[in-house]
Amino acid sequence: PIVLGIETSCDETGVGIVRGHTLLADTIASSMEEHARFGGVVPEVASRAHLEAMTPTVESALAKAGLRFSDIDAVAVTAGPGLAGALLVGVAAAKAYAMGLGVPLYGVNHLAAHVAVDQLEHGPLPKPAIALLVSGGHSSLLLVPDVAREVVSLGSTVDDAAGEAFDKVARVLGLPFPGGPYIDRAAREGSGTAVAFPRGKYDDGTLDFSFSGLKTAVARWVEARTAAGESVPVHDVAASFQEAVVDVLTRKALQACARHGVEDLLIGGGVAANSRLRALAQERCDAAGVRLRVPRPGLCTDNGAMVAALGSELVAAGAAASTLEIPADSSLPITTVHV
Ligand code: ATP
Ligand code: MG
Ligand code: FE
Repeated sequence: PIVLGIETSCDETGVGIVRGHTLLADTIASSMEEHARFGGVVPEVASRAHLEAMTPTVESALAKAGLRFSDIDAVAVTAGPGLAGALLVGVAAAKAYAMGLGVPLYGVNHLAAHVAVDQLEHGPLPKPAIALLVSGGHSSLLLVPDVAREVVSLGSTVDDAAGEAFDKVARVLGLPFPGGPYIDRAAREGSGTAVAFPRGKYDDGTLDFSFSGLKTAVARWVEARTAAGESVPVHDVAASFQEAVVDVLTRKALQACARHGVEDLLIGGGVAANSRLRALAQERCDAAGVRLRVPRPGLCTDNGAMVAALGSELVAAGAAASTLEIPADSSLPITTVHV
């Protein structure tokens, strides 16, 4: 079956089309340029941008796939979590397409979709797998017996998400929003051992994370340098901050694998695009005999293909379709794969 996926949980209007595990089209319109000058995503601006981008993005995805509306067998949409008004635009559009085409609708969890998308690149996800989900709003370790049926939370951040920490530290360093990719780039010219920043919850025995202490430590360090009239070594601070984040992420991910006797680790979400996280995870997985899967960077950040991928998985699993009454749920729990 051919599944059309619609993603509007944040600033990206994403439309993906898949057949099974084959990606046929992945089209994205982003309103990030409009938000960047505010240093964060402005919800009302995002909603309006989704409204304007929806129809052209769907049409361009169909054109890219060489398909017509009549070829679509099911419609999947991000039902949550995310910005309420932004989600609402995608959910309303998906209902209209599903009803108009007379095909089933699947309301899916954005976070489970960040996990499912890897199947478009690396084939069926081993069952079970451990997933490290690291994005702008979430940082969790998950046990995934079957991404279409069951996702179990093993631990999460108790304060900031990893992506949020990247974005806040970037601001402190005078880098543009969203800061993750800028820190990644700046860090390549710096040393990860230049400054010994704290690693929250490193040895606490849990699979939880904490990044707000690290973020504050970086801000204090930069303030102290500036107050002393010294220049801030942006590349070294970026690299040392990044090293602290990826050290604790990969350490706990491998602890999760060991504790649950799972030998397959998947990393997903926007922060999974980070080059140092990918490299260190590979190094530590190799040493531990764990197989690592990380989607290509363009599939880590928000996109429509991930929603289509999870929709396709639900169709294959024979999951019940959603009703046309499903709400957009801005705080949909990570354990609810579909609604
Ligand atoms: P959520 O998935 O929790 O709802 P979101 O959808 O806004 O949040 P994503 O698009 O999955 O988040 O990820 C965006 C985050 O990823 C941002 O915080 C961004 O800075 C971060 N990010 C993107 N690329 C990189 C990178 N190369 N290195 C570090 N962080 C990155
Ligand atoms: Mg985004
Ligand atoms: Fe996301």
